[in-house]
Amino acid sequence: MTRYVYDFSEPSVGGRDLLGGKGIGLAEMMQLGIPVPSGFTITTDACRAYLREGGLPSGLEEEIAEHIARLEEQAGKRFGDPDDPLLVSVRSGAAVSMPGMMDTILNVGLNDVAVRGLAQATGNPTFAFDCYRRLVQMFGETVDGIAADRFHANGDDPQATTEEFKRIYAAEIGAEFPQDAREQLRRAVIAVFESWNTPRAQVYRSTYGIPDDLGTAVNVVQMVFGNKGDGSATGVCFTRNPSTGEQGVYGEYLVNAQGEDVVAGIRTPQPLEEMATRLPEAYAQLLDTMARLEQHYRDMQDIEFTVEEGRLYLLQTRSAKRTAAAALKAAVDMAGEGLINREEAIARIDPGQLDQLLHPMLDPKAEFEVAARGLNASPGAACGKIVLDADTAVERGKGGESVILVRWETTPDDIHGLIQSKGVLTAHGGMTSHAAVVARGMGKPCVAGCEGLHIDLDTKQVTLGEHTLHEGDVITIDGGTGRVIVGEVPLVPPLINEDFETVLGWADELRRLRVRANADNPEDAKKAREFGAQGIGLCRTEHMFFGDERLPVVQEMILASDERGRREALDRLLPFQQSDFEGIFEAMSGLPVTIRLLDPPLHEFLPPLEEAADERMRSRIKALTESNPMLGTRGCRLGIQWPEIYEMQVRAIARAAKAVPGAHVEIMIPLVGFAEELRLLRELTENVMAEEAPDVDFACGTMIELPRAALRADGIAEHADFFSFGTNDLTQTTLGMSRDDAEGKFLTFYLEEGVIERNPFETLDQEGVGELMRIAVERGREVKPAIKLGICGEHGGDPASVEFCHGLGLDYVSCSPYRVPVARLAAAQAVLKEAQRADYVAAGG
Ligand code: PEP
Ligand code: MG
Repeated sequence: MTRYVYDFSEPSVGGRDLLGGKGIGLAEMMQLGIPVPSGFTITTDACRAYLREGGLPSGLEEEIAEHIARLEEQAGKRFGDPDDPLLVSVRSGAAVSMPGMMDTILNVGLNDVAVRGLAQATGNPTFAFDCYRRLVQMFGETVDGIAADRFHANGDDPQATTEEFKRIYAAEIGAEFPQDAREQLRRAVIAVFESWNTPRAQVYRSTYGIPDDLGTAVNVVQMVFGNKGDGSATGVCFTRNPSTGEQGVYGEYLVNAQGEDVVAGIRTPQPLEEMATRLPEAYAQLLDTMARLEQHYRDMQDIEFTVEEGRLYLLQTRSAKRTAAAALKAAVDMAGEGLINREEAIARIDPGQLDQLLHPMLDPKAEFEVAARGLNASPGAACGKIVLDADTAVERGKGGESVILVRWETTPDDIHGLIQSKGVLTAHGGMTSHAAVVARGMGKPCVAGCEGLHIDLDTKQVTLGEHTLHEGDVITIDGGTGRVIVGEVPLVPPLINEDFETVLGWADELRRLRVRANADNPEDAKKAREFGAQGIGLCRTEHMFFGDERLPVVQEMILASDERGRREALDRLLPFQQSDFEGIFEAMSGLPVTIRLLDPPLHEFLPPLEEAADERMRSRIKALTESNPMLGTRGCRLGIQWPEIYEMQVRAIARAAKAVPGAHVEIMIPLVGFAEELRLLRELTENVMAEEAPDVDFACGTMIELPRAALRADGIAEHADFFSFGTNDLTQTTLGMSRDDAEGKFLTFYLEEGVIERNPFETLDQEGVGELMRIAVERGREVKPAIKLGICGEHGGDPASVEFCHGLGLDYVSCSPYRVPVARLAAAQAVLKEAQRADYVAAGG
């Protein structure tokens, strides 16, 4: 039969997964001889069984009874005893820490009679009734779901308050407060199990990617009392500062209080240092214990403690949550102190968290109300005045004002406005909407698809949730979380400091994957290099077709009735393209630059039908309109139908390469599905290069963005020097989901309902899309063992996907410049995880 309960003093066989973080911490501290109260842990197995079966699994109640008996023996007190009762706390403790998300009930075991016994045994009726009123309140809130604001007392006499709370309890529930200690315990355990599924816990798990089926363990801990008078206290402390990572004592405590008071913020706690004068012995012991715990766990700890009449007890120790800056500082310092090695330092940093350091953020200390939410389309925070069109953005932006461009959605025509804005907010569009892609490329914050946003361009009025605003009113957007706030919220600047450079330097020594950036212009290319990019993995040339001087020429090209007319327009575009490429080659000084020939359908360069200038334009727009442009005339299909477009682009690349000695050129053909497509376009590329720049070395390859391309990678590899997985399109085409139609719509529902666990556009769907990649790698390498392999979809900057790419044996990942540091770190961690797995297998695991 499954065993569900373990004493803290037993060897912790099942580890963290079974005993939860708190349970394993208490068991380990007990083994280290650190003072912790006695108690036992009810396993996560029991919680899972409860959630599955809707009732306590058979045998659990008997086991709890046995362990209570053992606790009674150790404590020399009996549970439910009227004279000097044993009291316990019932606390949640999942394997993955979810601070404050689940429930705790203190002082279980008190009732109307036992409270008097406790008063007598301690000679302290104030204390005894303080414990009882807390029990009634916590039990009422947590077990019976009574709203917290119902429990308010008129005076501060604990006995009167207890009576008042019991009356409130009875009125709310229609029954008296339960008097039987075992009944209290049973119901408290069930409440903690159920708190696994509270909405806040669910939201927390989905935010941090914690699986929903882990369940929580429950710790039943003998009460120690921080509320026994001035010689007693309770507090929370960290072994280093969790905001900055600096060494030194950091924490808060409250005299004559129980743990919940510190967390709940009812009373203002004192700085921990102050304890040195008030409770000097306990303080000295606490400092000593903090140092021991940090040495033992070799990581920054977050500790809860209680002092009962001068005696220190540790209630919990766990690895401390910390800001990215603190994570870096602590890792570098701990490596310097010899507490951990460099590899451990690298492993300690959450690569996703690095994003925090690369953009301005909302000041964590600021208080504000969120007016509306949208998609967190591009990280960073910005505040500025609302502007409703690009021209106004330019006008005000150039005039030195901070502006946020607020649009239903942006189009390429808005690009000048985007450049002048601090950030962009759109009512419509998903993570790959124009605003999102451009903002990410520029490293500007973007909140997209904000449903609470309505714009009336006639009255220049904006509604944001419940607020009505006008052009010129100030808002703040947080592109990292999708929050939109009315008014100005203070920001904190990005922080690329020495610790950051140090850890990334160590990561570079370790990683095998190279890291490139997706960049379309010299500024982004420079930024990418600052962040450590080793080349450009994707230069999208379509962005170079926009802009005041260029778009009309592009439109002329599209509207031309014959090839001659198209070539004339293309000849005028060529110098623009050439100078763009020269700028990028220069910025990359000899590092590889993969330039992708034109990809999007041509209608994207034309205005909407109703804005057509004349009949010719109208009929061309109609001819180019597609019901599903994602799968229409785009990518290499354009190049095959209108070769002169690609010829012009290759010519511009060739001339730029000649002008910038040492340029490392890679020409990439998008959306290939058939080997013949690539054969034709490679031939075109080679011919133009031979004609224009016979001495320039170049590679020609393709993106793998269609399932057919992955499956037929063997035939395609015959014509390719490299493959770059375009996992944005490969995800869309493999899953049959258009990203703009999925995100914010059914995909959100899928994620909420747990139909799928991760957004496949953010984290690679390894089992589906990943499998196609695996096939492509295998088949491609069979035909051409030296073929270079990379990824340039957005997944190239997602840590889990980077790890997968490492495992597949790709040569590089490419991502937006701001994610380059994230990918560098993730690539190093992939090496560490691989080594760990190898060790595990070697050890027979
Ligand atoms: C891709 O499809 O993954 C890709 C990088 O191309 P784009 O996002 O420009 O379609
Ligand atoms: Mg693509």
